[in-house]
Amino acid sequence: MAALPGVTRSAINFAASTLTVEGRFDPSAVIREAADHDGVVARPEGSPAGGAPAAGSRLNAARTVLSGLGLLAGYAAGFAGASARVTVPLFAAAMLVGGYTTIRRGLRALPRLQFDMNVMMTGAVAGAAAIGQWEEGAAVAFLYSVSNYLEATTADRARRSLRALMDLAPREARIRRDGTEQVVPAGRVLPGDLLMVRPGEKIAADGRVRGGTSAVNQAPITGESLPVDKTPGDPVYAGTLNGHGALEVEVTREAEDTTLARIIHLVEEAQAQRAPSQQFVDRFARYYTPAVLALAVGLAVAPPLLLGFPWGPWIYRGLALLVVSCPCALVVSTPVSIVSAIANAARRGVLIKGGAHLEELGRLRAVALDKTGTVTLGRAAVTDLRPLEDGVTPDRLLALAAAVESRSEHPLARAIVEAARRRGVAVPEAQDLTALPGRGARASVEGETLFVGNTRLFAEVGGVDPAAARLAAGLAAEGKTALLVGTTRRMLGAIALADGLRPQSRAAVAGLRAAGIVHVALLTGDNSPVAGAMAKAIGADEVRAELLPEQKVAAIRELRVRFGSVAMVGDGVNDAPALAAASVGVAMGVAGSDVALETADVALMGDDLARLPFLMRLGRATLRVIQQNIGFSLAIKAVAIAAVFPGWLTLWLAVLGDMGASVLVTANGMRLLALRPDENPPD
Ligand code: ADP
Ligand code: MG
Repeated sequence: MAALPGVTRSAINFAASTLTVEGRFDPSAVIREAADHDGVVARPEGSPAGGAPAAGSRLNAARTVLSGLGLLAGYAAGFAGASARVTVPLFAAAMLVGGYTTIRRGLRALPRLQFDMNVMMTGAVAGAAAIGQWEEGAAVAFLYSVSNYLEATTADRARRSLRALMDLAPREARIRRDGTEQVVPAGRVLPGDLLMVRPGEKIAADGRVRGGTSAVNQAPITGESLPVDKTPGDPVYAGTLNGHGALEVEVTREAEDTTLARIIHLVEEAQAQRAPSQQFVDRFARYYTPAVLALAVGLAVAPPLLLGFPWGPWIYRGLALLVVSCPCALVVSTPVSIVSAIANAARRGVLIKGGAHLEELGRLRAVALDKTGTVTLGRAAVTDLRPLEDGVTPDRLLALAAAVESRSEHPLARAIVEAARRRGVAVPEAQDLTALPGRGARASVEGETLFVGNTRLFAEVGGVDPAAARLAAGLAAEGKTALLVGTTRRMLGAIALADGLRPQSRAAVAGLRAAGIVHVALLTGDNSPVAGAMAKAIGADEVRAELLPEQKVAAIRELRVRFGSVAMVGDGVNDAPALAAASVGVAMGVAGSDVALETADVALMGDDLARLPFLMRLGRATLRVIQQNIGFSLAIKAVAIAAVFPGWLTLWLAVLGDMGASVLVTANGMRLLALRPDENPPD
């Protein structure tokens, strides 16, 4: 592409079947140029897929079949004793028909000195004809066209698995706009529209429930098999399936911007990312092809010239080497595996942001878990309200704390705000709300700077009086998270919260061990008694409590020194630096959070920790499959090259071997599409 006038940059994303071209150029020239590549039909983005691609591949299939028939007829005639005057035209016809596309492309690439596979194959076919090996030339042309056809169809299958994800969103939406109900294309829905979702219908846009209640099956996005109850105020996502109730949803995002659209976009990008194994293959191929090409020329020319050997057999050997110079199987071995594994994970609500992270998942030896929102539900509830100052009622204590926490995303903050709402206490206005990560929050309420947070926070801002310290310690000893409320000079009281363990946490840790993890650590900013109890409940090896976000980073670094590859699993609240410091950062429950979705290496749309062991097995299986594929492809080439010298390798055998290797390698990679999370109940 870059050779076309005006084009400054071009990139192909095979997984998404897109071609990006930059510069000032003639689009029709790009489309014509693209047509010169195997099985490619380009059309401008957004234009409907016409009959062209199907017609193109049908034509290729027809040529392949015709070529095969010609070849058969040639063999049959030869077997029946017909003379060369009959067989040669038959073989020549089979050669030209089967080799049509390859030869045409080869002749175009040659003047540009691009020695691609089309040039090599054209050379091999023409050379065979030149030395009178018509039969061989026909067989090579036929087999190579079969191999191209197979490759195009298998690549299509891997791509279609991603398409299924894109087809999730309904094409039309029933909305109420300007007081009337109307059906519009889903792409035309705008934020602010009111979407009317009937029972059993797919939801067409991201939005917030305004009326009605229902259970929504979010499996397409989060991978959770159980429907989630939705009441007014709850978010819903495009592509999910409404249950038995009717819902009125206020649209919050444009069609290109929905969670589903983002996921698809990120998956496409991830599949296009080059994995480390791919870089090895690329480097190898860069030297391999020219080296074999030089060897081919040398083999065809040197023995007859220098040693006086006959020309015919040695040119034939050179031609065989030309065919062997294609690193075909090697080139497809890694991408097909990565694309399959990433598509598999995406179907289960897990976004892996590229082959490198996938391979890293397969190498993990230790896992660090964040406590709040990861191991626990992140739905803490207020259990105790303990005023410390005369005249402060429990409701007043809660109201002040809720004022300070009113805009925080932290699960503890949300629990306090929620408790205030439930008890119906009037929450005063607050200004200058500031989050103090790992400590608490600060705001100015009724003219005073008020803090809500742990004892560490108060120790830093003015000291904790003995009564407050005793109260906090007592609540912590009961296994609760204790927060103090006060100013730098006065302690108003303490609020205790408890957060339930996720039911899957214990099984997930056991699953991690079964998947080969040797060390599980629990990292938390919460107090030691709570953290210790949680660690014991889930079966962790190590627990570190009262950590600030930067201390979590230090803990991850230390684990990396001890164990090599370490994953950090968190909810993205207060733990983003630790996620970034880990070998793989896994964020969970990110369906609603754009930041976590964009920054994590691996994002669990839902919050099922039990996906983790599966991901590790998937990563490991990917590494294994890639190794098998690379090893196998190299071995086949080595055998083929070795067989050329004694003259054992016939041209058709060389092509057949290549084809067989490519198909085997592709099929092996596509097994990753079918890997199932066996530890989970079937979904
Ligand atoms: P975890 O490591 O368990 O996910 P965090 O790092 O988010 O916890 O927070 C650690 C501790 O910091 C909490 O247990 C709490 O004591 C305090 N804290 C953090 N943010 C807040 C907040 N917004 N309000 C009150 N306390 C907070
Ligand atoms: Mg957290």
